[in-house]
Amino acid sequence: MSKNYYKMNLTEKQEFVEKMINDLVERENAKKIPIEFSNRMTRTLGYFRQIVRRKRVGNKIQKIKVRPQLFKISNNMLKNATLKSIQNVVIHEVAHYLTDWKFYKNQKTVEGHSPKFRKVCAILGIKNDKAVYRDYQTIKK
Ligand SMILES: [Zn+2]
Repeated sequence: MSKNYYKMNLTEKQEFVEKMINDLVERENAKKIPIEFSNRMTRTLGYFRQIVRRKRVGNKIQKIKVRPQLFKISNNMLKNATLKSIQNVVIHEVAHYLTDWKFYKNQKTVEGHSPKFRKVCAILGIKNDKAVYRDYQTIKK
């Protein structure tokens, strides 16, 4: 069993989250993508970035998938959030990646927070609770 999360320093927390992401990605037989940690993210806790091409269809703009790029995780969240909040955010972002690039990779457009995305969240074991990435529970010190 690994070290208590709340006793880890930032580098150890980053390694822990990297492993959490890569384990999920590997478990679903998807390709690993880079993971970056940011000091500048304050409102956003994490995101999955992909290259998209915008295509006009009638009066709508569609986002056409080009390739996955990276996961970005907020250091601020790692420092202050509870483990449960971090797990929810991380799994939410991995679910975006796996929805677009594993489970529905033959679909041309980005899926977003759709029923298909929620299905993937369920496979990964979380409810698609949008509140978790707008806000998180902080560690009580
Ligand atoms: Zn999302």
